[in-house]
Amino acid sequence: MSDPTREAAFDLLTAVLERGRPLEEALTALPQLDQRDRSAAHRLAAAVLRRAGTLDALLEPFLRKEPPLPVRNVLRIGAAGVLILDTPIHAAVGTAVALAKTKGLTPFAGLTNAVLRKLAEAGPAALETLDSPRLDTPPWLWASWGANARAIAIAHQQEAPLDCTLKPGTEPPPNTEYLPTGSVRFPPGTRVADIPGFDQGALWVQDAAAALPAKLLNAQPGERIADLCAAPGGKTGQLVAAGATVTALERDPNRLTRLAENLARWGLHAELIQADATTWTPPEKFDAILLDAPCSATGTIRRHPDVPHLKRAGDIKTLIQAQDRLLAAAAAMLKPGGRLIYAVCSLQPEEGAARVANAPNLCPDPFTAKELAMVPEARTAEGYLRTHPALWPERGGMDGFFAARLIKT
Ligand code: SAM
Repeated sequence: MSDPTREAAFDLLTAVLERGRPLEEALTALPQLDQRDRSAAHRLAAAVLRRAGTLDALLEPFLRKEPPLPVRNVLRIGAAGVLILDTPIHAAVGTAVALAKTKGLTPFAGLTNAVLRKLAEAGPAALETLDSPRLDTPPWLWASWGANARAIAIAHQQEAPLDCTLKPGTEPPPNTEYLPTGSVRFPPGTRVADIPGFDQGALWVQDAAAALPAKLLNAQPGERIADLCAAPGGKTGQLVAAGATVTALERDPNRLTRLAENLARWGLHAELIQADATTWTPPEKFDAILLDAPCSATGTIRRHPDVPHLKRAGDIKTLIQAQDRLLAAAAAMLKPGGRLIYAVCSLQPEEGAARVANAPNLCPDPFTAKELAMVPEARTAEGYLRTHPALWPERGGMDGFFAARLIKT
């Protein structure tokens, strides 16, 4: 009675939790699987990753000793079905037992059955008593988010909606929500392939918050603009669509290929260069630069619930060194008076305001209230952009982004 969805979800959890692989990478490595089963497996694994702390706390009273990790993952899948995903109890328990057998864990089939049956009885009441936002968040992340920690952690428990940026001239597809920032929003669980116009390049997937940094660069037709960390290219697309002459740099050749394919699908053109932005020298300085720097990606946890399981507090130190190197390189590529938007999809203060406050040869130029009128709650006292998943709760939130405008001195 096991099924391909649960088997694939188990494989995804093994890749992330045992081998430390990113969920997206694990998804691409899955064996041949029907598209619907693949999506369902992704959603199931994501639900377990999102709520692993809570699921483990609920399983705890029924485990006399620590089970091997593969058995714990079977139990987590079963428990998620019983307590979070409203799967009928007999189906959640039966498929978990079958999954244990399929995955070579037959000696634990009885334990799986007994634990999940007890959980189905006692779990719903126990769930009410737990501080699940805290359980589902690593302490170092909770501590780093300050007063917003609880609201952010609560937002992380839900699957995010799917946002798209429309190519200029494209009408919003029917039955979509048109957001104040100009993005269109589809309900959580929408499959990209089902969005009208996606294959024809009329729009591309980009969270509402992720669309803000390129908008805030305010690219003008004919300006020479560099997008220094460009793939997969959502922001490059916005800059080209605004009429700028764009040079898109990307260090990773595979990601550059993806960027090229995306631009081709959207019918947009940019100069594409495979290079490390910290060592590349442009033939001529730029009017403006977008630096969407590599970061911890903690602003995208709703979409990438593997991030809290894979990132460690110590990773931030390495990332901020790279961000500083990129900022210095970007400053050297700008004309005097030229503008730079520095952006990261991170909720960590060290990767945001702390990076730009004293960046050499660059002076912060605050965003005005008018420039951020479409999302005023995201404007900080210093005039930076700071979004997080608990903003717009009634609309389904937005990713966590930091962005600042800097002027070359
Ligand atoms: N701007 C992209 C978009 O909107 O689709 C997302 C960029 S992602 C946050 C960061 C990208 O920077 C990754 O594709 C990574 O390979 C690339 N990257 C990291 N370090 C780089 C460097 N030193 N030079 C050029 N690209 C780099």
